[in-house]
Amino acid sequence: MPYKRLMNIIQTLFNPPKKQPLPPIITTRHFIKLPPPVQLPAKQIPRAQHSVSRKNISKNAVKVLYQLHQAGYQAFLVGGGIRDLLLGLKPKDFDVATNASPEQVRQVFRNCRLIGRRFLLAHVHFGQEIIEVATFRKQHDESGDGVIENGCIIRDNVYGTIDEDACRRDFTINALYYDISNFSLLDYADGMADLQAKIIRLIGNPTERYQEDPVRMLRAVRLAAKLGFEIEPETAKAIHQFSHLLENTHAARLYEEMLKMFLGGYAYPSFVKLREFGLFKLLFPQTEACFDDPIALALVEQALKNTDERVAADKSVTPAFLLAALLWFPILRLIPEYRDKGLSEQDCLVSAIDKVIDRQIRRISIPRRVTILSHEIWLLQPRLTRPKTKRSLRIMTHQRFRAGYDFLYLRAQAGENVADSAQWWTQVQEMDEAQREQFFDTVPSHRNNRNNRRRKKKKPPATSV
Ligand code: ATP
Ligand code: MG
Repeated sequence: MPYKRLMNIIQTLFNPPKKQPLPPIITTRHFIKLPPPVQLPAKQIPRAQHSVSRKNISKNAVKVLYQLHQAGYQAFLVGGGIRDLLLGLKPKDFDVATNASPEQVRQVFRNCRLIGRRFLLAHVHFGQEIIEVATFRKQHDESGDGVIENGCIIRDNVYGTIDEDACRRDFTINALYYDISNFSLLDYADGMADLQAKIIRLIGNPTERYQEDPVRMLRAVRLAAKLGFEIEPETAKAIHQFSHLLENTHAARLYEEMLKMFLGGYAYPSFVKLREFGLFKLLFPQTEACFDDPIALALVEQALKNTDERVAADKSVTPAFLLAALLWFPILRLIPEYRDKGLSEQDCLVSAIDKVIDRQIRRISIPRRVTILSHEIWLLQPRLTRPKTKRSLRIMTHQRFRAGYDFLYLRAQAGENVADSAQWWTQVQEMDEAQREQFFDTVPSHRNNRNNRRRKKKKPPATSV
């Protein structure tokens, strides 16, 4: 081997050529110096001067408060429970805050489970009812360091004192604490005044508070809709400015918030406010894009109003039905694309469903068990609207027939061209056995125009599924 080549080999062995540097990983994560947390002085409101009575608090929540107190810890009822009691409303749940750590809470209650990844919480179980016990939290540690990822502060899990806990709560009306030791209220952010004036006001600087957690924008809108309150101008203005942050918000959190917003009994007013603040299009971009069609808007509005009525009447509600309404028009609009590819009507529908769901779950992570049910509702639609024969009646034994029919009825209500089918199915269901027997005889056994229909190549209009 020539000397020069040998030297080259030796050199490469000892000094391997430098590898091409990998392209930098693009991340928007960076460290910032956070401003010191706001210090809020608490106003104490003695029992004689407020209307919160133990009579109106869930027995189990009172039990939890007393047991923590007897074990030597501070125990307060806080958040929506107190806010709603002060407004004379029936609280949805009762949240307890304490200086006991989650582990210490677990030692006080046998019926207790620790849950949560972002932040550890104690759930005390009493049959169906769960009382959530949270240890006082502060926003960030003393160093003032925070981690911002995609514009949101992601470190938020340091235990603190009650004063610090009050500072990190979202709105003034949510920072009222009911003290079980003397039945007084602690008002950290003039929440009582805002309750009386019917105002939703963020604690602290709205810019920072929305950057820390964009979900607060949805909470502001939801509470304003639920309580019929006004959003204070600074709190409202910053929503317009920072709404885009919701695009990077964790899709699983958005699903939780969506459930609270749409299944809590105030779905329609929440929807109106979400649109007013330009937030709906960030959550359901495909749906918003269809609202140039008044029928698409009417369908969603009617579905939300029906949901509110059902909640008010204590009837069950399912996110799948609502999702079916929210995504129906995006699906219909996509079908012609697949028709152009020569797919069968059924395959067009299935492909459009898959595509629309796929796009939607990138924004809001809707569990598969929910999308599967919506899927079934959608697939029943062509079966319910096609020309009726004796065989059509078999569909009544389908597990999801009722949901499919309710959805068809909703479509008819919204103005889709399916009123005849909806009416047909309504009549059939109202018949007793004997009437149905008689009716059977008037219905053809087969679709005798089937072959003719196949030969025709006319494209059905977009809303004819
Ligand atoms: P609801 O009536 O829907 O239960 P709520 O205000 O109690 O309304 P929860 O989600 O139960 O809402 O939260 C309980 C409390 O936790 C709130 O009142 C608020 O003080 C605090 N909280 C919840 N989410 C946030 C958030 N994103 N940022 C700051 N504080 C929050
Ligand atoms: Mg609550």
